[in-house]
Amino acid sequence: MTTAIRIPTVRLTVTSVQVDVLLAALHDGAEYRRDRAAGYCLDCQCEPGKLCADHARDLDTADDYDDLAAELEAAPASTALDGAA
Ligand SMILES: [Zn+2]
Repeated sequence: MTTAIRIPTVRLTVTSVQVDVLLAALHDGAEYRRDRAAGYCLDCQCEPGKLCADHARDLDTADDYDDLAAELEAAPASTALDGAA
């Protein structure tokens, strides 16, 4: 038996300029998280061939940022003129 999980969604409208800012932030964030994961701390050294939980989570978060960026890049654009009749 499977249980459906409902995830709340939010609809918002952003300009193409704001999308560019969001994409830049997501790319910067993903790069930062991957750099952190490459730090290979003492906890990582206790897990031969693996990353510690914190650094593994950094990679997961970087992937989440990449996924969201891909969704933003793939989102269809529309144009609307403010006040147009
Ligand atoms: Zn670590």
